[in-house]
Amino acid sequence: MTSPVIIAIDGYSSTGKSTFAKAIAKELGYIYIDTGAMYRAVTLFALRNGFVSKNNTIDTEALRKMLFSGEHPVVISFRTTGPDGASETWLNGENVERDIRTIEISRVVSHIAAVPMVREFVDRSLHEIGSGKGVVMDGRDIGTAVFPDAEIKIFMTARPEVRARRRYEEMRSKGQETPYEEVLGNIRERDYIDEHRKTAPLSRAADAELLDNSDMTVEEQIQWFKDLLKRRHLCGF
Ligand code: C5P
Repeated sequence: MTSPVIIAIDGYSSTGKSTFAKAIAKELGYIYIDTGAMYRAVTLFALRNGFVSKNNTIDTEALRKMLFSGEHPVVISFRTTGPDGASETWLNGENVERDIRTIEISRVVSHIAAVPMVREFVDRSLHEIGSGKGVVMDGRDIGTAVFPDAEIKIFMTARPEVRARRRYEEMRSKGQETPYEEVLGNIRERDYIDEHRKTAPLSRAADAELLDNSDMTVEEQIQWFKDLLKRRHLCGF
């Protein structure tokens, strides 16, 4: 690409956004930002501090005090770990990459992400990172709310059963045994909450390209992206 741009990738849970986004970022020499990891890290923080009750009611005032406290700011950062652009998420100096990927966090994260003040906190961090351009961000509201002027927007989807199968396999490979039906149920529930929340709900931006990867390999998706750049007269690879 001639000058660095922002690439916004949004879509449903477990559509392979991060795999796709990482591959693109690597090819272009861009920074990859997993915005879902930020919501997951805030969720871990809220759970550890007892701000989430059993029925997923959140003590927003207590959480607000911690997130926006000038004295002890909550710091979420990323460290690149591998040549494939993989990165680990750190919360206040602790590597929490493994802890934020559990089904327990997945059960609560969409409730936390629906709180406007939490979105404000994450958006602020994303703007600090994205202001330099040359970034690929994946999430739910990047092309609609965080960076509505992003030069390239992609909206990803796939059949729920395909997504649940991929997620199930991924969790198994990491030694997390969760029944397939529970994984599918969690994906459907998160989709519903993400699409129906008041603040920055998941939706396809009018100018976002649709990528349904139900029956596509990662290589085919990269080819699709190269074709997109050609169509838009942008060079990159
Ligand atoms: O991408 P991932 O599945 O890890 O995201 C976890 C959750 O964080 C999503 O289900 C969604 O509720 C929330 N999220 C969001 N906005 C983003 C990224 C993630 O609301 N930009």
